[in-house]
Amino acid sequence: MPKASGDHVNPILAVGSVAFDSIKTPFGEASRVVGGSATYFAIAASFFTDVRIVAVVGEDFGANVEKVFGGRRVDVSGLETIPGETFRWKGEYGFDLNSRETIYTHLNVFEQFKPKIPAAHTSSPVVFLGNIHPTLQKEVLDQVQKPRLVAADTMNYWIDRTPEELTQVLKRVDVLLINDSEARELAKEANLVKAARKVQAMGPQTLVIKRGEHGVLMTRPGGGFFAAPAMPLEDVFDPTGAGDTFAGGFLGYLASCEATDDAALARAIIYGSTLASFAVEDFSVDRLLRLTKEEVHTRFTEFKKLTHFDIV
Ligand code: AMP
Repeated sequence: MPKASGDHVNPILAVGSVAFDSIKTPFGEASRVVGGSATYFAIAASFFTDVRIVAVVGEDFGANVEKVFGGRRVDVSGLETIPGETFRWKGEYGFDLNSRETIYTHLNVFEQFKPKIPAAHTSSPVVFLGNIHPTLQKEVLDQVQKPRLVAADTMNYWIDRTPEELTQVLKRVDVLLINDSEARELAKEANLVKAARKVQAMGPQTLVIKRGEHGVLMTRPGGGFFAAPAMPLEDVFDPTGAGDTFAGGFLGYLASCEATDDAALARAIIYGSTLASFAVEDFSVDRLLRLTKEEVHTRFTEFKKLTHFDIV
């Protein structure tokens, strides 16, 4: 791990969903378990730095706030509880865990949500716009003062329904994390390299394209790419949240090391991949809640062995 905990002053402000998910995979089912983009992100990033969540839950979420975020470097003063039901999402995976079908998305309390950033958090140096309505992402950006780094995630749900709003947000984003199929859809371009260039032209200079079990491809601001594989795992139970967990490890590391040069970005990709590789080993956030810093460190070094070779 890069630094000892508790010593860092580069907190991340993270907006996104906090949810109840129902998930079906070929290996089992889980119903009404804790999920959400901000949830996975915050747990992962909190291994590296302080995270300030901006989100909303319904009164039904109850003791889950403490169960999931308690005892971690996660500030929940921006997590509102309002009357109504928590955001609900159901997804189903076939044997190809890289593709999933959304069975339903119930926005519930997110329909009336207006993000309110606590005054003490408006100067957060790093901002993560998790996967939610792009208008909400914009409202968060409007309330913060000159962050050093803005990263964002989105998904096909918003690319299809709110393309105009998304385009406006992208102009203000430095790093976009996106799936390969979503990058193609956003750019309206089948070739991934050309799609990446087109998305860069929309705003974000660094594009992190997540390719499920095939790993990650990142554009470098000056041109060129960095690629990393995903850890080959024997036990993959539930890919839900892998992308947000990746984002948490990636941005958490970048915030903690205060650098955004090529070498730091490459290490951040490996930290993101490391955290994501744990998230998929169990349903919901269960594996992340059991995860230790020692396990993160061990797997980070295994990643080096996975890709290292000598040129003779
Ligand atoms: P990932 O597998 O990383 O794409 O993230 C899955 C998480 O995103 C789940 O826990 C869902 O609760 C959440 N999610 C799914 N669809 C949406 C949506 N349209 N808006 C916000 N969050 C969503």
